[in-house]
Amino acid sequence: MFDAIVIDKTEAGQTVRLVPIAGDQLPEGDVLVDVAWSTLNYKDALAMTGASPVVRSFPMVPGVDFSGVVAESSNPAFKPGDRVVLNGWGVGEKHWGGLAGKARVRGEWLVPLPEGISLRQAMAIGTAGYTAMLCVMALERHGVMPDSGEVVVTGAAGGVGSVAVALLAALGYNVSAVTGRVAEADYLTGLGARTIIDRAELSQPGKPLARERFAGAIDVVGGVVLANVLAATRYRGTVAACGLAGGMDLPTTVAPFILRGVTLAGVDSVMCPTSERIVAWQRLARALDFTRLEAMTAELPLEEVIAIAPSFLEGKVRGRVIVPINPA
Ligand code: NAP
Repeated sequence: MFDAIVIDKTEAGQTVRLVPIAGDQLPEGDVLVDVAWSTLNYKDALAMTGASPVVRSFPMVPGVDFSGVVAESSNPAFKPGDRVVLNGWGVGEKHWGGLAGKARVRGEWLVPLPEGISLRQAMAIGTAGYTAMLCVMALERHGVMPDSGEVVVTGAAGGVGSVAVALLAALGYNVSAVTGRVAEADYLTGLGARTIIDRAELSQPGKPLARERFAGAIDVVGGVVLANVLAATRYRGTVAACGLAGGMDLPTTVAPFILRGVTLAGVDSVMCPTSERIVAWQRLARALDFTRLEAMTAELPLEEVIAIAPSFLEGKVRGRVIVPINPA
């Protein structure tokens, strides 16, 4: 038996509890992993609170990612003892996820953990950090390079935002951080941001085009903030959009696209092809400043995960939250 967070739904509504479960209750899969660390992402908070219909079948173990060690495998690509990381693929949404002592999954969802990243660091990065890397790769694909000019990150004090700031700074970009928590300015400067922008400056509906300022952007917020970032993006700049922490809508016009050739690059981490994931993780191992990663990481016992979930949706959690399960 091992502990797992289990979300269930009855006629009375959704419940979420920490309960002991047996290995034979795990779903089908060709690789059994002893979970070492898991983490909390915005999507896990949506799942546990039921604020959004993230969970597609019940009962469900949440946790869209985990790092761990292979315990059993009938998949030729993996053998017992291999260190692995999993992000997305519907795990924690339609297949039992990482907030449990063990996980049984399909081998093709696993990425071998690169040398140089510990199991703990892998979850400090987590889906948030791996998505930040995918956003950086999207900017690069569209020609936004360190010498292109100011690159802005929204939702900067959150999980994706914190890693994005640290990663862009480590790669030599001139990074600006948009935050609703200006009290976190020192934290963001410590991660490598050169300029702090108060989210209030971008929260009111603006003109279709504003002064050209940003060479590129990583946006986790959506809504009016994203519309204002697009309006202030320079000729032929690119905005990588990956989140909706501020809203699902996008009240913009075509002006930035047809008059300034701006690119809006969508980034999805969940179904991203394995080849791109492997590149992203290898680049994280090389590029990320692990001292800065540690500075943005807090540990939370599994017993306290359910209680903290609502704080994510209120934008109160700073940086990355990792959960020791069988820590190595
Ligand atoms: P998080 O840690 O909760 O960070 C979100 C940040 O957004 C907050 O810390 C806050 O930053 C800002 N924010 C919160 N509420 C806001 C509001 N009403 N208006 C404007 N800004 C607000 O969440 P996360 O794990 O980084 O995830 C961020 C977003 O990316 C979520 O929407 C998540 O679903 C999405 N995501 C998408 C993918 C993908 O594959 N596309 C992968 C991972 C995450 P400040 O306090 O600094 O302003």
